[in-house]
Amino acid sequence: MAADLEVPTWVEVEADPAHVRREREKARQLRSSAWWRRRVQRGVCAYCGGAFGARELTMDHVVPVARGGRSAKGNVVASCKPCNARKKLLTPAEQLLLARQAAGRASEHEGE
Ligand SMILES: [Zn+2]
Repeated sequence: MAADLEVPTWVEVEADPAHVRREREKARQLRSSAWWRRRVQRGVCAYCGGAFGARELTMDHVVPVARGGRSAKGNVVASCKPCNARKKLLTPAEQLLLARQAAGRASEHEGE
């Protein structure tokens, strides 16, 4: 399980209120679709691969809406609540990058 990652200062949050409002509304519609229900019924978290009940899975935007992401089928996944909370406003690419940087710092200190 990855440690909590701090949102770094270089992350730009594009909080265009019109975009956020539009995409949140689209997310609501997508959540009531048969496509989403099938997805949730599979019972698998897209991030950790764990098995969960349909009620334990939430809709997560791979690229967060606040970062310009859209409520489209290619950008929403079923996520367990812990994974969703850990992700915060980071994209998966940024999470990988930060995890690597953190691991790099840890190994630098080993030789001291
Ligand atoms: Zn998960």
